[in-house]
Amino acid sequence: MAPTLTRIGLAGLAVMGQNLALNIADKGFPISVYNRTTSKVDETVERAKQEGNLPLYGFHDPEAFVNSIQKPRVIIMLVKAGAPVDQTIKTLSAYLEKGDCIIDGGNEWYENTERREKEVAELGLLYLGMGVSGGEEGARRGPSMMPGGSIEAYKYIEDILLKVAAQVPDSGPCVTYIGKGGSGNFVKMIHNGIEYGDMQLIAEAYDVLKSVGKLTNEELQSAFTEWNKGELLSFLIEITADIFGIKDDKGDGYLVDKVLDKTGMKGTGKWTVQQAAELSVAAPTIEASLDARFLSGLKDERVEAAKIFKSGGLSENLTDQQVDKKQLIDDVRKALYAAKICSYAQGMNLIRAKSAEKGWGLELGELARIWKGGCIIRAIFLDRIKQAYDRNPNLANLLVDPEFAKEIIDRQPAWRRVVCLAVNSGISIPGMSASLAYFDTYRRERLPANLVQAQRDYFGAHTYERTDIDGSYHTEWFKLA
Ligand code: NAP
Repeated sequence: MAPTLTRIGLAGLAVMGQNLALNIADKGFPISVYNRTTSKVDETVERAKQEGNLPLYGFHDPEAFVNSIQKPRVIIMLVKAGAPVDQTIKTLSAYLEKGDCIIDGGNEWYENTERREKEVAELGLLYLGMGVSGGEEGARRGPSMMPGGSIEAYKYIEDILLKVAAQVPDSGPCVTYIGKGGSGNFVKMIHNGIEYGDMQLIAEAYDVLKSVGKLTNEELQSAFTEWNKGELLSFLIEITADIFGIKDDKGDGYLVDKVLDKTGMKGTGKWTVQQAAELSVAAPTIEASLDARFLSGLKDERVEAAKIFKSGGLSENLTDQQVDKKQLIDDVRKALYAAKICSYAQGMNLIRAKSAEKGWGLELGELARIWKGGCIIRAIFLDRIKQAYDRNPNLANLLVDPEFAKEIIDRQPAWRRVVCLAVNSGISIPGMSASLAYFDTYRRERLPANLVQAQRDYFGAHTYERTDIDGSYHTEWFKLA
């Protein structure tokens, strides 16, 4: 039992909740914890004891849990998104009082957060939707957190969040008040969409190096380890290098070669792509990474298709190209970096478009700052993004920031070589080529859109504008044909 009232409560003790609760206790804030299935409460209390008698107190009964927290009470929920969040709010709000605050730390759809904020406001409660990134280890040692909603609620727990978040030298804690309504969840969703893009681009780099460059796992590990010392330094490159070195504990060879080539997903990538369409913002790299996951899921169909095209004469020998391994590794590194810039440009533009639509006033540079540590996409590269928005907060696109523009120009010959090599080798690199198409479309003064508009006017009298005279025009094209 808690000897006195605790500072904060946390409900939902699966991977994220358990670790975040221990992190909060570890930073010296007494915490009450609760979970629907009570065995997880006991498990968490036991861990708190073993990890240094941390000030964490478990409750099996929701009323006792709520009453153990000092007023105004703040409770973080870390339960499965959707109906479980509504059920948990119902359970807790029965005992909460006016002025208390509920924080949803899950990957929730931002509109659900806005609905709940209004619903609990009728009970006099405050609400925050707070994206938490970093997985199990991040939650325990220091995540990146994206709280949005009631600023008053944020102020109640700002001191806790600043200590619990990942700390980056010279950049501070990886948390900031994001903005009103569901902005915290929205920003976390885009973070995950960017994460999809990063993972796909890395997987494509691996495919080209392995399938065309014929690099062994040892060589892949050494290339990625080297990459992690430069512009690509990031958590995802680091863990990828680790993965290449891990031997199979159930047989011969390396574990990565035994993992089934079928990617799972939980929904935030799909939401990001749906939002891109809703907002009319081009996000082809993130879309390509989602499509790649869908296609990976069709394993049985792919096995059959491989048989048809092999017997139809499409040879595996396509990948037998003469390549200079050292040059290829260097080219792929540059292609990966350039493609990554395009992917982040898309994610940032999505956030800016939503912020304008909702009047959230989000600061893109500040978001890049809080992603520098704790979260899955943490990377040295985010510092460059922050600097780009510091130089020009109204930057139309990261691609035209002078520093990024220079980096892209320097890398584009290598990027084009990698895309051509992959195409000629029959290796699909949808993310890298979508990024290149994005760049080549964005940088061109004149596109073939004139023809599409002429077609639209031909069959649908949709009218067109001219390059030389103002106004809207319609031509009866069929009469002139
Ligand atoms: P999870 O598997 O998403 O959810 C399990 C938790 O939800 C358990 O505490 C479970 O309670 C509770 N729950 C499920 N249905 C419930 C219901 N109807 N009523 C009350 N509680 C219910 O757990 P997680 O992986 O720790 O993730 C928590 C949240 O953080 C999710 O939104 C997730 O998307 C997000 N997130 C996860 C990660 C990660 O790496 N796992 C990273 C970032 C964000 P019982 O024990 O009683 O079943």
